[in-house]
Amino acid sequence: MKTTAFLGLGAMGVPMAAALARHAAETGGRVLVWNRHAEKAQAHAAEYGTQAATLEELGQAGLIFTCLPTSADVDEVIGQLETHLKPGTVWVDCTSGHPDAAHSQRARLLERGVRFLDAPVSGGVNGAVAANLTVMLGGPADEVEAVRGELAFAGKIVHVGDTGAGFAVKAVNNALLAVNLWAAGEGLAVLGKGGVDLGAALEVINASSGRSNATENLIPARVLTREFPPTFGLGLLAKDTGIALDVVHAVKGSAPVLAQVDALTRAAAQLIGPDEDHTAMLKLVEQMNAQEIR
Ligand code: NDP
Repeated sequence: MKTTAFLGLGAMGVPMAAALARHAAETGGRVLVWNRHAEKAQAHAAEYGTQAATLEELGQAGLIFTCLPTSADVDEVIGQLETHLKPGTVWVDCTSGHPDAAHSQRARLLERGVRFLDAPVSGGVNGAVAANLTVMLGGPADEVEAVRGELAFAGKIVHVGDTGAGFAVKAVNNALLAVNLWAAGEGLAVLGKGGVDLGAALEVINASSGRSNATENLIPARVLTREFPPTFGLGLLAKDTGIALDVVHAVKGSAPVLAQVDALTRAAAQLIGPDEDHTAMLKLVEQMNAQEIR
């Protein structure tokens, strides 16, 4: 029986591991789950038919997934698990991690005969629940092809390059999310301050060239409603904009807008709070303009 393991049952990990469990039920496999606070693993097992496991038991898996906040957290878990790993295992890290860490983690795991692929995801919690995530994979082509059929939480799978490329693409994508969100917030705050109805303004923008996922989805559903549902933390977005800036520096690139948005996102995470939803960064734009976006 094929054994798959999933570590990190957070906002993304819970539905991703559930999708793997549905796939395993169809193909005669099993999914072991582990979480730092173990009660979440037991609850997952009860709800989705996975099996809560100890770190030792996870070593039996031929395929290990992680989805943790940062690459530093993945390093910590590799340290706890590495003596239990068996050669031939593939470790697929769905964390939005750091390209440098992908290289060191791959080298460290290869010493034990374990292959590492960086495989961050986009699509958010809704995409994970619908098993419709986009996965961007970094690593050798043959290793990527070998896991393609196992990514049951994916709607789209793209091999973007060698080790670390997946993390780099994810960081740049999220920096662009921050740019679009912040810029749309500035525009709407000044329009609102000038007395324009923001529903009408968004109707125009979303039929015009200024539109983005921020104006079409995030701002109408989360900001105008004042709900800011916490599905993707502002602190995690600030981590991603920081990685994007490291990607810029690694190639000695010039990207002043990405640098600016990193500074603004970090400031928002400090002032508004890292556990607030990422869309709450617009509360800082609101303070700067003494104008709510509603
Ligand atoms: P959450 O904060 O919801 O969950 C984090 C998970 O990691 C929890 O299971 C937590 O365990 C565990 N964890 C944290 N630190 C450690 C550690 N040192 N050792 C072991 N386990 C640890 O995060 P998300 O699910 O939102 O995000 C996970 C990753 O996915 C991040 O890299 C994020 O940037 C990325 N991502 C998130 C998206 C989203 O919409 N939320 C979308 C796309 C990517 P415990 O329960 O014990 O605290």
